[in-house]
Amino acid sequence: MNNLTTGLHHVTAIAGNAQRNYHFYTQVLGLRFVKKTVNFDDPGTYHFYYGNYAAEPGTILTFFPWANIRQGRAGIGQATSIGYSVPEGAFGFWKERFDALGIRSLPPTERFGAPLVGFFDPDGLLLELTASALSDARLGHVTNEIPAEMALKGFHQTTLSLQSIAPTARILTELLGYEPVGMQGNRHRFVNPLATAGGIVDLLEENDGRKGLNAAGTVHHVAFRVPDDTAERALLEKIRSVGLQVTDPIDRNYFHSLYFREPGGVLFEIATDTPGFMVDEPLDSLGESLKLPPQYEAYREQILAVLPNLHQ
Ligand code: ZN
Repeated sequence: MNNLTTGLHHVTAIAGNAQRNYHFYTQVLGLRFVKKTVNFDDPGTYHFYYGNYAAEPGTILTFFPWANIRQGRAGIGQATSIGYSVPEGAFGFWKERFDALGIRSLPPTERFGAPLVGFFDPDGLLLELTASALSDARLGHVTNEIPAEMALKGFHQTTLSLQSIAPTARILTELLGYEPVGMQGNRHRFVNPLATAGGIVDLLEENDGRKGLNAAGTVHHVAFRVPDDTAERALLEKIRSVGLQVTDPIDRNYFHSLYFREPGGVLFEIATDTPGFMVDEPLDSLGESLKLPPQYEAYREQILAVLPNLHQ
């Protein structure tokens, strides 16, 4: 079996203020807050998950909000933008919304024939909306201000900035099952043929680019999805066989993950679709209460005491 991955699973980035991050992603962008938990390696810090209505892999953007972290810098060795799909016809709605709410955005442009607008979250993380003609059955999350026909569906693509794309391209094609589909300037597009959506990775070759600084407003890692533990173990062997350092699978409660740094410097994760976000709360109340992994449940009171309160 050659293709083991089936597209993006999630992207994890770093934020500063937790409340500001929560407000932006739930109120301004209207994403669904699908899980409120803590950083399993630093349980005094939140781990926020935002997704579409059904919290499907390929729609999940997660954040570690660290109140006192310094400002990061996007650059070489990082994912430097995260693209969402919106329905065709939603573009004007979002442009007006960004202007009305004072969201910093870039002039609209076209990429591989599809209209696109870039904008920044409160920590300076670059996001993009693409009105894609690709069929995309994912249901966005509807809010008071954002109707279904305007809602973000989930990831369209993510862009990795690299000094030289060749070593990373080899990982994408030989290990993860992606195929090159074209280039525009220094942007090289790869698509996962098994992905129903969220299957695009763009590699941006920036020979003279500056190395990124991983702190607030930058991406921490990019996770690719595999169906289950069997596929993950097969991929683990494949990654080891080419001499890359890779962790054993780690239980992240909602998925099982392994991590490796690809040769271009970007931290990659492989995450299983199973067991998913409904393992500890039902679909209709996702994200409403703080969820802790079993090892921290005994410390719930102490953890609650140090986490900042959130409000709309
Ligand atoms: Zn992750």
